[in-house]
Amino acid sequence: MTTLDFPFGAAYEPTTSTLRFPTEPRDTASAHTLVELTRTPGLVVAPRFTRDVTGAWTFTGAWQVAHARSGMAVSAAFTAGLGHARDAAALLGELELDWTRPCDELRLTEPEVRRALIAQHARLRAAVGDERPVYLTSSSFRQTPPLYLVYDADAGPGWSDAEVAVESWNAAADHLEAIDWPDAVIVRDEQPWWLMHCATKACQQPLHDDGPAWEPMRHLLTDTAAELGWRRLDQRRWLCARCSHDFREIPARGL
Ligand SMILES: [Zn+2]
Repeated sequence: MTTLDFPFGAAYEPTTSTLRFPTEPRDTASAHTLVELTRTPGLVVAPRFTRDVTGAWTFTGAWQVAHARSGMAVSAAFTAGLGHARDAAALLGELELDWTRPCDELRLTEPEVRRALIAQHARLRAAVGDERPVYLTSSSFRQTPPLYLVYDADAGPGWSDAEVAVESWNAAADHLEAIDWPDAVIVRDEQPWWLMHCATKACQQPLHDDGPAWEPMRHLLTDTAAELGWRRLDQRRWLCARCSHDFREIPARGL
């Protein structure tokens, strides 16, 4: 079997499981692999494999959700990336099913359960097709109250002339004291400023790791985001570089 560099994050605990793949109508093949535990008890995220004519297993590049107890695949998007497989587990967790039970007790073929599964699969496939997460925040932008700007007394009053911009009068005063700068003045800006974060609900990574990066205009944030490999989804929402990668559709291979 191909060796994989598993991209599991700290929030997702890897474990191992044996996956089962239907080959003939009455037969299944098994493959033992690393899988990722999900927030839905009983379901794991697993790499999607295919088997060539020689019987060798190959990773297709796509990811799936498997029923941990039986190893059977339960997600229906063959081109799902890692982020989409995680969303698939969350979608299946919204159903009134106890996935920790044995497969034959899940009543997956009953009309009511089937209808619910089809609806969740449709939500997943739409997200895969659009290369966006299922679960999104309403906006990547957050407005902050006008900031306090520290100026040289001869400069300003434009925001670009400010030495620092901070959230409170006290923080500005502390800054002045620290730099011992007698000619400086503190002015409160008149406009709200902006912060930016990833629109994936489970991520919400801020634009910069090292503290808030306020900007007085949104395009200054989006210019930086584009430079850092973020991807624009629509007018209000952007994905961070990591989510942008995890929420790409994987080209179908070996199906
Ligand atoms: Zn993200």
